[in-house]
Amino acid sequence: MNVATAPRIAVFGSVNMDLVAYVATAPGSGQTVTGTEFRQVPGGKGANQAIAAARAGGDVSFLGAVGDDAFGTQLRSTLVESGIEVSGLRTEAGASGVAHIVVESDGANSIIVIPGANGRVTDVGDDDVRLIRGSAALLLQLELPLPAVTAAARAAREVGVPTVLTPAPVQELPDELLDAVDLLVANQHEAAAIAGQSDPSRALAPLLERVPEAVVTLGADGAVHGRRGEDPVRVPARPVTAIDTIAAGDTFCGALAVARAEGRSAEAALRFASEAAALSVQRYGASLSMPERAEIERVRT
Ligand code: ATP
Repeated sequence: MNVATAPRIAVFGSVNMDLVAYVATAPGSGQTVTGTEFRQVPGGKGANQAIAAARAGGDVSFLGAVGDDAFGTQLRSTLVESGIEVSGLRTEAGASGVAHIVVESDGANSIIVIPGANGRVTDVGDDDVRLIRGSAALLLQLELPLPAVTAAARAAREVGVPTVLTPAPVQELPDELLDAVDLLVANQHEAAAIAGQSDPSRALAPLLERVPEAVVTLGADGAVHGRRGEDPVRVPARPVTAIDTIAAGDTFCGALAVARAEGRSAEAALRFASEAAALSVQRYGASLSMPERAEIERVRT
């Protein structure tokens, strides 16, 4: 895509080093087992969405924090190598965020996240607001402390930049935050929890009482878009053989933000995001699996 026309997307979020151990069966308390493989991969929902948006054609700025350790240097390099602008990425004294992941042979996983530098982001500064101000959208998730996410959403609202929130990990959300969210992008479980509904298929209407626009992703069943006062629009997922759905939601959200910032209709943006996510689930890895814009466009023609 012509860089001059790439929409500017700001992402204020987490960046972690994922330390992934593969093992037949995870050890119980007091047990030691021998695993089969180890991988070290950059992750964190913020970084994943930033990379997805950059691959989908966005001109992306990342705002957040790494530690002053070796992981911090590697995480910063990964973002830079992905073409992401990092003047808003602070280096904080101490450790970077780490996710300790154990994957069992049946695919089940257990994860310990140690927020590290992510947990030390407690507010937005003038430099953050300057980066947000020039953007077509601000992407937010909940892996930074809630006061910081809320402050970023409110700062964006003040400078007229639309906010897109992925409410993960799901938690109680204060009105102070949701009042400053323009578009909520939630999976079925998150949507049901925030809407206070046990049945995810009934979550959209109550969600639209709290935010003006929402997308609920439905895994292999696609996604549905709702806007207050309009009929919902549902887009099916492309039927594909999924081998790894890690970060499918982040791929979807990054691509959706780019498509919306380009002025596409809700339905066209949903189709673009669905194609990006369908490509990603056919490959292993989080950021490694995210498609480039040309691939997404190729599938759609
Ligand atoms: P994850 O936590 O795995 O990143 P998520 O739970 O946030 O994902 P999902 O609703 O599972 O989000 O998936 C997001 C989108 O990815 C879906 O709306 C769909 O477009 C695409 N997707 C997910 N699974 C499949 C699949 N098996 N086949 C095709 N597309 C899929």
